[in-house]
Amino acid sequence: HRLSSSYLFHRKSVKKGFDFTLMVAGESGLGKSTLVNSLFLTDLYKDRKLLNAEERITQTVEITKHTVDIEEKGVKLKLTIVDTPGFGDAVNNTECWKSVADYIDQQFEQYFRDESGLNRKNIQDNRVHCCLYFISPFGHGLRPLDVEFMKALHEKVNIVPILAKADTLTPTEVKKKKIKIREEIEQYGIKIYQFPDCDSDEDEEFKQQDLELKESIPFAVIGSNTVVEAKGKRVRGRLYPWGIVEVENSAHCDFVKLRNMLVRTHMQDLKDVTRETHYENYRAQCIQSMTR
Ligand code: GDP
Ligand code: MG
Repeated sequence: HRLSSSYLFHRKSVKKGFDFTLMVAGESGLGKSTLVNSLFLTDLYKDRKLLNAEERITQTVEITKHTVDIEEKGVKLKLTIVDTPGFGDAVNNTECWKSVADYIDQQFEQYFRDESGLNRKNIQDNRVHCCLYFISPFGHGLRPLDVEFMKALHEKVNIVPILAKADTLTPTEVKKKKIKIREEIEQYGIKIYQFPDCDSDEDEEFKQQDLELKESIPFAVIGSNTVVEAKGKRVRGRLYPWGIVEVENSAHCDFVKLRNMLVRTHMQDLKDVTRETHYENYRAQCIQSMTR
């Protein structure tokens, strides 16, 4: 079973530590780089240069990769973040998802080659296990580009939709927007990552958590790289004239929920689905085209 196997795996990998690759995608300026930075508390982007407006417009989609070692409750984790900056900046956005889709395919291709090679024991797994897709809080639900982008990727990677910059919306607006976006995802036939159903013999508390998680989609997040003081404590947050929004306060956004889902409760399932579904699809296509 999907969920119980993840706990088994979890026990096994506690000693070994494990690898996970997370991608962020979506329009430029929605806080992708800031969020991955907030998620894993390291300044991944210390050396980034500020681009002027002109440069930004002609900037091509350039994919960057960072690796960080983190430890979650005694479990060592080598996390690779694949950032896709600039999407939506270019004047011509047709097929802007192409380079991202190609990147994912290239990782499958590499894995496929390594797997058929002689040294199959120590394959470096660079396959993308999850893609956080950022949706603008300013539009009315999904934009045509979002639909196109997600549909170009949904057979290749586990897409987890994110409602960006949730601090710009009131709680009521967040709720409405989430429902709208979930409806549109359904309506357009976008296949996002599905949390595995829990067993019927699971306890009520567990079922409640599971339901809550499903209703959090798209996760409303707030990112910040600054530490502010709130009620005498130093926290990650954003300081406004009217108050402070705290990244890790679950009354303010779904940040903690998202982080737990990624690095604790669903990491193994995301890897399983990548291997069993997305990679298998790729592999089947490869073999089919070889025998044609
Ligand atoms: P990216 O292009 O998607 O990687 O976006 P960046 O992380 O570079 O952020 C773009 C701008 O949005 C920066 O000025 C950030 O400070 C700001 N920003 C990032 N996250 C948030 C957020 O959650 N809320 C608000 N209001 N602004 C944010
Ligand atoms: Mg960025």
